[in-house]
Amino acid sequence: VTGKRTYLDYNASAPLRAEARDAMVAALDVCGNPSSVHSEGRHARKIVEAAREEVASLVNARPSEVVFTSGATEANVWAHSGWAQVFLAGIEHDSVRAPVSASGAVIVDLAVSTDGVASFKSTPRADHGRSLLTLQLANNETGVIQDVAHLGEMARGANIYVHTDAVQAAGRIAVDFKNLGASSMSLSSHKIGGPKGAGALVIRDGVTLVPLIAGGGQERRRRAGTENVAAIAGFGAAARAAARELSGMDRVRDLRDRLESAVLDATPGAMVIGVSAGRLPNTSCIAWPGKIAETLVIKLDLAGIAVSAGAACSSGKVGSSAVLEAMGLEPGVARSAIRVSIGTDTTAEDIGVFLAAWKAMSGGAQIAA
Ligand code: PMP
Repeated sequence: VTGKRTYLDYNASAPLRAEARDAMVAALDVCGNPSSVHSEGRHARKIVEAAREEVASLVNARPSEVVFTSGATEANVWAHSGWAQVFLAGIEHDSVRAPVSASGAVIVDLAVSTDGVASFKSTPRADHGRSLLTLQLANNETGVIQDVAHLGEMARGANIYVHTDAVQAAGRIAVDFKNLGASSMSLSSHKIGGPKGAGALVIRDGVTLVPLIAGGGQERRRRAGTENVAAIAGFGAAARAAARELSGMDRVRDLRDRLESAVLDATPGAMVIGVSAGRLPNTSCIAWPGKIAETLVIKLDLAGIAVSAGAACSSGKVGSSAVLEAMGLEPGVARSAIRVSIGTDTTAEDIGVFLAAWKAMSGGAQIAA
């Protein structure tokens, strides 16, 4: 990539934080295996346990509840195995929906409003045995926040366990595992400025899940395999920085709101998806009916700006987003939606660059779509 770029795709992957890079570089030179009893091993163990405390602290969990994984996909696959019945909304990430479908569990659909808010269609009951409600804390495409505490309380009253995918919420809003009532929660390092390929499943003390990866006794026998010490160190440093910067999210929300009003002013017919729901401060899903999102993304890319069409995680397939479809949006609206997602190091100038390019597209010749 050459020339000055404006990166507005934090929900796909946030830039690596300097603290995370420093922690990783230092950890790479620690030769010990965290399971070894000698000094080198204990040094590596200390790095892993310090990171566990930082990650736990970001989401108000106990360190003993944090199990490091290869990412949130692994955490989600693990959390969704072994259930007889799963309550599931169509807005969930593929790494939730795919393992649930593959598991053969009885699936009970949740209702999703056009603003992207999920609810039970009827009073939940554990009719088929061991049951789970899975409900993301915030959506990756729209930023819409779910009332996990409330739906979770209804579920628990019916003897239904609760899992929440907090990948996009962590570091952007306060996440409180202790008071959320979920028995498990997935996290991803690279959405908060840590390295890709690291994550965690937070499992409430007292809840036992059969390991997805069995073998050695690492992670207190819950997840086998020698720990990825450098990635975990980076994840921990990113969690510490993200917790410190939570207060900066008000400024991020202001930038996002300014972007949205300027876009709506410039473009008749454009709309912000999920605007009436509670949303993450950093995410904007903007539909421009009549356009094709991929075309907009390419035009913006040529202008030096990185945004996404639908979920970048599933890019490569052109077409409508499953999330927006689950919200019942018209296909023409869904197909035109781009996602702009920012962070605490996004500047007013970055937003200005985006708006200039957007206005050029609005005012200029009809975009071939
Ligand atoms: N859940 C959500 C909501 C996500 O946005 C993502 C990443 N796109 C994941 C899970 C998967 O995370 P990872 O990339 O760490 O596997």
